[in-house]
Amino acid sequence: MLLKPFTFHAPKTLQSALELYAALRDVRLQAGGTFLLNSLKLLKKKAAKTPQNILSLEHIKELKGISVEQNTVTIRSMTTMDEMHGSSLLTDYLSILKVSVKNIATQPVRNMATIGGNLTCRYTWTEMPAVMIALGAKMHFRGTDGSKEGITAEEFFHKEAKTGGIFTHVTIPRDRDVCAAYFRAKKSPFVDIPLLSLCVTTRFQHNKFSGTIVVVNNAVTFARRDRVLEDFLNQKGASKEVIEEAVSHLDDPIYDTRSSDYKKHMFRVGIKHALYDLIKTQK
Ligand SMILES: Cc1cc2nc3c(=O)[nH]c(=O)nc-3n(C[C@H](O)[C@H](O)[C@H](O)COP(=O)(O)OP(=O)(O)OC[C@H]3O[C@@H](n4cnc5c(N)ncnc54)[C@H](O)[C@@H]3O)c2cc1C
Repeated sequence: MLLKPFTFHAPKTLQSALELYAALRDVRLQAGGTFLLNSLKLLKKKAAKTPQNILSLEHIKELKGISVEQNTVTIRSMTTMDEMHGSSLLTDYLSILKVSVKNIATQPVRNMATIGGNLTCRYTWTEMPAVMIALGAKMHFRGTDGSKEGITAEEFFHKEAKTGGIFTHVTIPRDRDVCAAYFRAKKSPFVDIPLLSLCVTTRFQHNKFSGTIVVVNNAVTFARRDRVLEDFLNQKGASKEVIEEAVSHLDDPIYDTRSSDYKKHMFRVGIKHALYDLIKTQK
């Protein structure tokens, strides 16, 4: 369905994007456009108005790329899924980012979709939120008044991923002792979006789970940690017996939110799968 006419703005600097975003009425941000354009067409089908303005972030160089400084990896918001997958900087446990982005849709979508769009579009079936929370990432925003804000990914999704500003980059602490595992189940063989996904990070100390973070996603409202399971695992030995028992120690209300019995079963399968993977990669 064709959209109604709108004005397309494509500033070249973050500063001009912020100024336009503050000045324009009825405006939507566009990153790669893979979510936005679909959602505008769906809205139009429901007789909603096309926004008057689209503000594209496509030409803003300072919002692109990945860099590493000392103990922090920075991924800028307009970095595409494909660029993340090809990055030589995402090594060790950070290669979990490559594992998860490779699952996303198809190559043409990965060429366009950005990390910024994935984290801020508030679509239920995105996968980056769980991974960012499990990696202890912090998300950085610029307000339309130019102010800077940093918030942990965990808090951002706890507050239902709402922002009135421009998301500029995410920072991830580098900790070579961390091991990470990711599990995803497909929603259907035809439309490749996740039915559910989860990410687990831990450090093995004297063969015991330590500082474990378990994040579940998609079949819950927004990505969130299962602290009951984390508490069960921490300081337990990394053994088959502990893993088999772990799935009896879940924070059940989390899984009850939007899950059918099948999804709850698949979460248990996924958690076991991820924990066995972690034991294999133990450092
Ligand atoms: C066929 C298909 C299959 C898919 N399958 C998967 C999948 O399996 N797994 C998965 O994780 N995802 C999947 N997706 C979702 C896809 O990852 C998202 O469409 C994509 O991440 C959105 O990124 P984008 O850059 O295209 O965002 P856009 O569509 O450009 O933006 C979407 C919205 O995000 C917000 N936004 C974007 N950038 C910023 C910013 N810098 N600051 C503030 N707000 C911003 C705005 O509100 C904007 O309107 C699929 C999408 C399609 C079309």
